[in-house]
Amino acid sequence: MNLVYHSTRNSEETATASEAILKGLTSDGGLFVPDSIPKLNVALEDLTKMSYQEIAYAVMKEFLTDFTEEELKTCINNAYDSKFDTEEIAVTKKVDGAYYLELFHGATIAFKDMALSILPHLLVTSARKNNVKNEIVILTATSGDTGKAALAGFADVPGTKIIVFYPKSGVSPIQEKQMVTQKGNNTYVIGIKGNFDDAQTGVKKMFSNKELAKVMNDNGFQFSSANSINIGRLVPQVVYYVKAYADLLKQGALKAGEPMNVVVPTGNFGNILASYYAKQMGIPINKFVCASNKNKVLFDFFETGKYDRNREFYVTTSPSMDILISSNLERMIYRIAGNDPKQCAEFMAALTKDGEYVITDAMKAELSEFFGAFGSEEETAVKIKEVYDKEGYVMDTHTAVAAVAYDKYKAATGDDKTPTIIASTASPYKFTRSVMDAIDPAYDAEDDFELVDELNKVSKTEIPKAIEEIRTAPVLHDTVCETVAMEDEVKKILGI
Ligand SMILES: *Cc1c(COP(=O)(O)O)cnc(C)c1O
Repeated sequence: MNLVYHSTRNSEETATASEAILKGLTSDGGLFVPDSIPKLNVALEDLTKMSYQEIAYAVMKEFLTDFTEEELKTCINNAYDSKFDTEEIAVTKKVDGAYYLELFHGATIAFKDMALSILPHLLVTSARKNNVKNEIVILTATSGDTGKAALAGFADVPGTKIIVFYPKSGVSPIQEKQMVTQKGNNTYVIGIKGNFDDAQTGVKKMFSNKELAKVMNDNGFQFSSANSINIGRLVPQVVYYVKAYADLLKQGALKAGEPMNVVVPTGNFGNILASYYAKQMGIPINKFVCASNKNKVLFDFFETGKYDRNREFYVTTSPSMDILISSNLERMIYRIAGNDPKQCAEFMAALTKDGEYVITDAMKAELSEFFGAFGSEEETAVKIKEVYDKEGYVMDTHTAVAAVAYDKYKAATGDDKTPTIIASTASPYKFTRSVMDAIDPAYDAEDDFELVDELNKVSKTEIPKAIEEIRTAPVLHDTVCETVAMEDEVKKILGI
């Protein structure tokens, strides 16, 4: 049976999976959601015998029902290969009473690789299936990690161009270096004088600009999105929560049917939403701990039922979570509003107009499986050092925010027995300065790459290829623009 996708803001606009992947956003500015979340067609016990690629197929075929078996398996095999430094693709490590699900073994050493190594293949396949002749222009706003992972995924993929906007002063030096050294004839990287939300808003505006879409089409181009709102990113992220459950079974942490908790360092709400979808598919999950940094708009939302973006924006040591508008939350709002697009559209209109909305008590009750917590800058740094001193394990700042949130969850609920997965979203090598500052501020080096060598010594882990490569790579992208000039930059690139 074909799964039908439609807009969170309007039930009339429907699409197949491949159409939804191609479009990214719906034409009314909403997000594509499936009519219902499909069930996993594999017994939990049997998951332990499956490879990552096999689990990926079992999960994704339920969502991407208009892909043939061959198409989907080709996409999976092209994505999850030797670009990852482990055959397991995602690795579950028990450290200090929690299970760290390491999602950073891909090409750019952050969890965005999990989805962005397959998205280009899903997109090109979707274009072919739908007889698209236009060249596809991927337009992306990044808080740091998406940009590089998307650039790496799309570089030199025929029939595509990729344009990435990032906040010039809002990403780590290593993140910036990773992006501005990107090779490929179809890659464009632009710093904006604004924060991530400015970049995201600018990109969303271009997506919903019908006039621009027409000019593009007349010139043989069409936009698509690699941002985490694309279901082609969301669906591959469900896979590793299924894999994590299989790992806990294999490691004897639980028996088939017993629940795990998940703790997710959250920004745009994509990763944690994927875990929620995993539960709907049949994976036993008890609580979803939504971890925020000092930009704790989601913590406040879970506490009060009020989503309020009108607040000060902080640049933190976990920049990929420095977000005030969590785009994927819209899919959750839609669901807890009883799959009612009209009500969802009203909340989103209020968010655009007033920067806030308040959900109903009935909707709030639907969120009882979620636990919101946040980690301050200091708590995060202390946690990195604590786990390093105790176990010799070095985690990155985003993962540490999640570890702090897990401590708070345990203290608040007394639940320290349920095996708990902490989504470990970046390699410490990506945020070396903050990580080394936390371990010992005496490591005061001018250059972040010196710190890489220090980290290598203290963590006794190999320096990832992704870091070695950019040490000496030349800067290939140096454009910086005002937020208001983003559209002009795109037109310049496309020559329209
Ligand atoms: C993107 C990112 C996050 C946030 O994930 P969302 O899906 O946006 O909630 C957390 N940590 C790291 C390292 C990231 O790159």
